[in-house]
Amino acid sequence: MSDQPTLELDVAIVGAGFAGLYMLHRMHQDQRAARVFEAGSGVGGTWYWNRYPGARCDVESLEYCYSFDNDLEQEWDWTERYSTQPEIEKYANHVADRFDLREDIQFDTRVTAASFDETSNRWIVETDQGDRVSAQFLVMGTGCLSSPIMPDFPGTDTFKGESYHTGLWPKDEIDFSGKSVAIVGTGSSGIQATPVIAETAKSVTVFQRTPSFSLPSDNSPLDPAEVADVKAHYTELREINAQRPAALGGRWPKGTEESVLDATVEEREAVLENAWTLGGFTFMQSYPDLALTPEANTIAADFVRGKIRETVQDEATAALLSPEIPIGCKRMVIDSGYYQAFNRPNVNLLDARSAPIEEITATGIRTTDAEHEFDIIVYATGFDAMTGALLRIDIRGRGGEPLHDAWAAGPRTYLGLGVVGFPNLFTITGPGSPSVLANMITGIEQHVNFITDCMTHMSELGRQTIEATLEAQDAWVDHVNSVVEGTVFVDPRCNSWYLGANVEGKTRVFMPLPGYPQYVEKCEAVVANGYEGFVLA
Ligand code: FAD
Repeated sequence: MSDQPTLELDVAIVGAGFAGLYMLHRMHQDQRAARVFEAGSGVGGTWYWNRYPGARCDVESLEYCYSFDNDLEQEWDWTERYSTQPEIEKYANHVADRFDLREDIQFDTRVTAASFDETSNRWIVETDQGDRVSAQFLVMGTGCLSSPIMPDFPGTDTFKGESYHTGLWPKDEIDFSGKSVAIVGTGSSGIQATPVIAETAKSVTVFQRTPSFSLPSDNSPLDPAEVADVKAHYTELREINAQRPAALGGRWPKGTEESVLDATVEEREAVLENAWTLGGFTFMQSYPDLALTPEANTIAADFVRGKIRETVQDEATAALLSPEIPIGCKRMVIDSGYYQAFNRPNVNLLDARSAPIEEITATGIRTTDAEHEFDIIVYATGFDAMTGALLRIDIRGRGGEPLHDAWAAGPRTYLGLGVVGFPNLFTITGPGSPSVLANMITGIEQHVNFITDCMTHMSELGRQTIEATLEAQDAWVDHVNSVVEGTVFVDPRCNSWYLGANVEGKTRVFMPLPGYPQYVEKCEAVVANGYEGFVLA
């Protein structure tokens, strides 16, 4: 193949999820030659791939949507408090059509490699379709939860029934009726899928290694009057959300300013009960210290464990479903009837910690204590989060240095946006930014706006490259570590994907950054100080 690029661009964008779509739109507005490369056949990213039964958003629909266009906000109607995957995918398609994005999206194309050419100061991007693209900027909208991981049990290929990973779910509907189904994994996807599959399957057996804390969604159809009210005050809602730690929940009480430890038992029970009834993430916002100090955290965790005991009729199952770890140190799950599903006669919970899965056989799953037969196995085994999609591409910066090597001891970035040695590479919701700890569409918009403004600034100054300084990057990594130090996030009992602990051999480093408002403030200060911490050359 010739070394000559087949296409010259200002900006190559990888991924057509909400990050890639908005990035492309901003590039169109600024009349930069841009193209999105997307491995899937359609737009939506997460919401294109995760079609499993019960897949839905756990940030409220009225908040989990773009804010950049007032008309879009006003014209789109969500039907439920928490949207289903099909509705969010439809929304992504609507956005792609409404803003004429499709013509610049190349589907069914996986970016395999990208290297920075120091002579031309441009990225050379290669795809599995034989493209060789030259671009001034490379923007990664590859997603934080887009690299599914299969468990490494022996024999997965030998199973004669059907098997599916929740993150690579087929487009054709799967018929569970009359089938014996195994669900392996009890993170968000397994918890969402269990009650829905149980409605039609003959039996559902959930294999649980570690239980997750799940809060009720209290999902319901949206009331048109409520929608109208939000639409009339959208700007205010977005502003309030931007001041909330996770950039969401602005319609609900902020919670008290006081520590839960200062409240009487009756007071805190009433506050927690109220938050529980409201549903969703508001529960963890009810006191400021629930996610921060161990004593406060135990109060919230005990409350939820009590709720599990109240809901699940079988005592042994309730005990098994009750996490022993701090609440919030792993991704919280918002469910619609998960605990209740274990009261159905066709749903069974197995403890894969005391009796681990040894092998997938032709007819099912063999654990250390039994052989189980299934028609369908659902792997809800999650993702190589935050860095997986980036490191699956052979990205090379100055001197041909692989990103893989630069991040061998865990990801290192400045602001979660730039990496030393990788000029003009931007990572949307990259490690070291609020990313998965905030409403992700809000985080995406903030990053895309930062990147776009930065490009404009560079054009105005006639600069070709931008690159973080080592000093700024080191200080940022230290800052992220200091923010989480002593919090439940880094509790040694919590083997979360935030820490990469769900992937064999992955360095244990806390990757996202709590505190959306403080992060935005920092980004604004960086810009106000002439892109402090970056070199514009
Ligand atoms: P993604 O949507 O992941 O899109 C990335 C795209 O990049 C994918 O389409 C992928 O195919 C493509 N890609 C990756 N690598 C390559 C490559 N090498 N070449 C070409 N294309 C590539 N967030 C919330 O804030 N609230 C929620 O309620 C919520 N629920 C979620 C539920 C599930 C089941 C999952 C998996 C995630 C959820 N998230 C949620 C996180 C969700 O990922 C983000 O909200 C958001 O959709 C991310 O958008 P994105 O564009 O950054 O990445």
